[in-house]
Amino acid sequence: MAFAAALVVSGGMVYAQGAEPRCCVETPAAMPKSPDSTTKSPEPTPAGGPHIATPEEVNALAAQAPAPAAAGQPFRFPLPHGVAPEDRLQVKTIWAARAIGVLFPQITTIFGYREDPLPWHPKGLAIDVMIPNHSSPEGIELGNQIAGYALANARRWGINHVIWRQKIYPGIGAPSWMSNLGNETLNHYDHVHIATDGGGYPTGHETYYIDSMTPAPPQ
Ligand SMILES: [Zn+2]
Repeated sequence: MAFAAALVVSGGMVYAQGAEPRCCVETPAAMPKSPDSTTKSPEPTPAGGPHIATPEEVNALAAQAPAPAAAGQPFRFPLPHGVAPEDRLQVKTIWAARAIGVLFPQITTIFGYREDPLPWHPKGLAIDVMIPNHSSPEGIELGNQIAGYALANARRWGINHVIWRQKIYPGIGAPSWMSNLGNETLNHYDHVHIATDGGGYPTGHETYYIDSMTPAPPQ
């Protein structure tokens, strides 16, 4: 419940700023004083807040994911450090960021670590993939593909959840606290938020590939 309230606050903060393309990287000063203040309205706004995607929606989005090895040529080159700052990110989050960077070269901005009321970004578990021209059909399609790609790799990366266009897509072992959301303001229209279970902080000896990494992260 506390998580849910905090997520609402966090989302509200994002929306209140309304600034592109900085996403949610802003000061706590913009936050409401009390997380409870966001829970008073039991009615969703007409536009609707983020809500949990149905299993059908999760599957539909995952089906849009590109299949990099489909041509019979699995990527075996190490994934390079891409556009995402990897400082203070855990290994599965880095892995996801690098894979997305290679498969979606249109992406030029990914945010990672930052302070936040929720644990995902401060603990190096989440990235925000900023979608260029996010309101255009191409932007929406790109975001769908990236969100779908993360969901298609849910087990590999220990995806906890993906948020895109007002929907939360639970990953592996999705916690039930998400069901408390529903009053939230519009948000996550300009970026895909991807949260993993981390896998620990890198030692500097990791090598990331599209379909594996060494040393293998904990499952
Ligand atoms: Zn995020």
